[in-house]
Amino acid sequence: MAVESLNCPNCGAGVASDSSQCEFCKTRLKTMACPSCFGKMFVGSRFCEHCGAIAVPVNLIDDEHLGDCPRCRLPLRLVEIGDTRLCECEKCDGLWADTTTFENICANSEKQSAVLGFIGERKANAELLTKISYVRCPECAELMNRSNFARSSGVIVDICRKHGVWFDADELPKIVDFIQKGGMEIARSKEKMELENQRDRLRDEQRKLGLADPGFRIGGIFEKEDNSGIRNFVRNLFD
Ligand SMILES: [Zn+2]
Ligand SMILES: [Zn+2]
Ligand SMILES: [Zn+2]
Ligand SMILES: [Zn+2]
Repeated sequence: MAVESLNCPNCGAGVASDSSQCEFCKTRLKTMACPSCFGKMFVGSRFCEHCGAIAVPVNLIDDEHLGDCPRCRLPLRLVEIGDTRLCECEKCDGLWADTTTFENICANSEKQSAVLGFIGERKANAELLTKISYVRCPECAELMNRSNFARSSGVIVDICRKHGVWFDADELPKIVDFIQKGGMEIARSKEKMELENQRDRLRDEQRKLGLADPGFRIGGIFEKEDNSGIRNFVRNLFD
């Protein structure tokens, strides 16, 4: 990627965009993409220098104990992107989201663009991925389940049903892309159809046995077609 000069978010000095520290005030630096124009900006800047858009405030917090990266075993650091709190491994770029945070990201497109802007483009670390397949939850250390997100996304994430989801470097952007292309709605209607087929089969069987119509209702997760439906659908992944 091209190196350009950006202003340090702390002292305002011009610094090369690939610097990891400001040479004047020693602030640690990290670039992210502007959610509006996708131009480069430093984490902590209040405005995009390219288009003037107001940046979503991002805080990187090192000194909170959050558990270790399930792949590298190094301490995770807390990243606040607006009001979205994720844990990040600086070495492998993996991310940990607790259940509620992940639901909120899935249901809210503003959060999706803010998170994508921060994450930017990340490449999968092929070496790490072949080394370990099943990894442990950073919170309870139980082995997590590997699951094809929403069954049809093709993104295999690691899920602890009690605590949250681990995303390897390139997985969260892929999931956001899947959601933004309407993948959740497609997955939900597929599941609804499967449930309906199941209900029809049951009904037929009961009829054959001479039993009364059980009058099944497909309720719960499919009743609402708004965001709370997506939320419930996501929560369903953890049940
Ligand atoms: Zn500076
Ligand atoms: Zn911009
Ligand atoms: Zn890691
Ligand atoms: Zn857990």
